Amino acid sequence: MTPMSIQMTDLQDLYLEQLQDVYSAEQQLLEALPRMAQAASSAELRQGFELHTQQTQEQLRRLEQIFEALGQPPGGKTCQAMRGLVAEGQEMTEKKANPAVRDAGLIAAAQRAEHYEIAAYGTLRTYAELLGRTQDVQLLQASEDEEKATDQKLTGLARSINMEALG
Ligand code: FE
Ligand code: FE
Ligand code: FE
Repeated sequence: MTPMSIQMTDLQDLYLEQLQDVYSAEQQLLEALPRMAQAASSAELRQGFELHTQQTQEQLRRLEQIFEALGQPPGGKTCQAMRGLVAEGQEMTEKKANPAVRDAGLIAAAQRAEHYEIAAYGTLRTYAELLGRTQDVQLLQASEDEEKATDQKLTGLARSINMEALG
């Protein structure tokens, strides 16, 4: 349990709790993505991780805008799921592996993280719609679209990298 326990009585409270969760998830990814970029052998994959690091920074800014409009400070919660997903990605950077195999493993880990984010932003966007927070909907949709595009890009990169990893 987090020390700052939020009492939840309605969807607005749950919305805030879920915003804190994804804020934590994005912060963790902001630290993890440069390490994954460094571990990648494929230049395209490395550049992909680097670009998504920048996008993650922007996504954090969008969330901060939402918190500001809500009059709530960001932070105070740790996303345990992202903690696990990041740990799995980290394992892949530390294993002794052939370059293409490691790259394939990095993609596998990254896509798990992207899918988690897609689910989080989809839920948050739906709540924002129900709560009539039009500005939030735009911001959350923008981040959701970036996560989906990243996932698709990783699928594309996996096509050639998986073949290489086949040996
Ligand atoms: Fe993100
Ligand atoms: Fe979470
Ligand atoms: Fe992402």
